[in-house]
Amino acid sequence: MSLIVQKFGGTSVANAERVFNVARIVTDTYKKGNDVVVVVSAQGDTTDDLIDKANEINPNASRREMDMLLASGEQISIALLAMAIQKLGFPVVSLLGWQAGFKTNSTYSAARIKRVETDRLKAELDKHNIVVVAGFQGVNQYGDMTTLGRGGSDTSAVAIAAAMKADKCQIYTDVDGVYTADPRKVPTATKLDAISYDEMLELATLGAQVLNNRSVEMAKKYSVELEVLSSLTNVPGTIVKEATRMEKMLISGVAKDTNVARISVIGVPDEPGTAFKLFSRLSAKDINVDIILQSVGRDGTKDITFTVAAGYLKDALAILNDTFDSAQVIYDEDVAKVSIVGAGMETHAGVASKMFEALYSAQINIQMIATSEIKVSVLIAREDADRAVRAIHNAFFPEN
Ligand code: ADP
Ligand code: ASP
Ligand code: MG
Repeated sequence: MSLIVQKFGGTSVANAERVFNVARIVTDTYKKGNDVVVVVSAQGDTTDDLIDKANEINPNASRREMDMLLASGEQISIALLAMAIQKLGFPVVSLLGWQAGFKTNSTYSAARIKRVETDRLKAELDKHNIVVVAGFQGVNQYGDMTTLGRGGSDTSAVAIAAAMKADKCQIYTDVDGVYTADPRKVPTATKLDAISYDEMLELATLGAQVLNNRSVEMAKKYSVELEVLSSLTNVPGTIVKEATRMEKMLISGVAKDTNVARISVIGVPDEPGTAFKLFSRLSAKDINVDIILQSVGRDGTKDITFTVAAGYLKDALAILNDTFDSAQVIYDEDVAKVSIVGAGMETHAGVASKMFEALYSAQINIQMIATSEIKVSVLIAREDADRAVRAIHNAFFPEN
């Protein structure tokens, strides 16, 4: 007998018919003699709708109250799924994050899981119940509800799989695997049979929302092999696992991130300590900086340009305007980051230039460039982003 963790995203439980579809997948797994823990997200656009409701009342509500509100979406879906499983005639119990033992820190709206206390989960499995757990949520040391950040249910599932040493962790979604680009944007994208943790982590961090990046980080840390597959078609998905067991792909995928803003500080002193002063003030406020570009000094001054997540733009501008008296601060919100990821880049020259050639052929201007061993990212105008993804994808994965 195996322990299987199955996670279903919002689209997979969007309405009654879909909830029954999930109930059938879960009970088929249970019928084969497996223990099953199911993690579910809020139905359809519920989380977005709750955010809209909050904004109608108070756009500056505290993150604690936001978490109290957003956690309710998953409470609805676990109860509905449990009711569907009951109707099919199987023993089941639904649990909120705190009941399932999810202990987190107190960073509301982006809480980190400290541990999963598995006593209750184990007790319910011992009673032969199918256990349905609310994803995306936990409880902090003060007994208050927290949420893990958007897309956090993937992390809930991996955390249970790691804590319970599950035999399988299946992430069911609305596409049948991880593709070489978002299949909804790039029709020629192809499905990968397998991808390494490192490449998947880069893709997820660089905008491929099919898996939450923290879930991949955790899967790697605890060696939890993941399968990403569709709840709507019965075909094998993509396996996310350690790289040693697979062939290195030159490029495994192209990703796009529009949650980004560019800031330039023009005319800062060209002297030791300038970058430190700037970036230490940002990090003191937990503002993460991504791509950084500094110009060569001229006449005693230089310019520093960098990107932040769009949601932090306002805070970053406020800090910068207080930091340098004579510098000018300009920003652009209409940008996007497009990246290629592939472990094979390490050993092959010319990968970056092939990407730049594709952008040139599409007449798309590059504003900034960043590279690492397994990725190349460019910052471009947001209106060009989808075209850029297609052009780059076509260069690396030509049709037929
Ligand atoms: P869920 O609600 O199941 O968590 P998400 O909407 O979070 O689903 O993630 C699935 C979506 O991720 C897909 O519908 C697809 O549009 C998008 N996506 C982006 N990049 C990729 C990729 N490289 N491969 C597959 N899907 C991707
Ligand atoms: N319901 C949450 C969200 O929409 C969590 C998730 O779907 O993983 O972000
Ligand atoms: Mg998701």
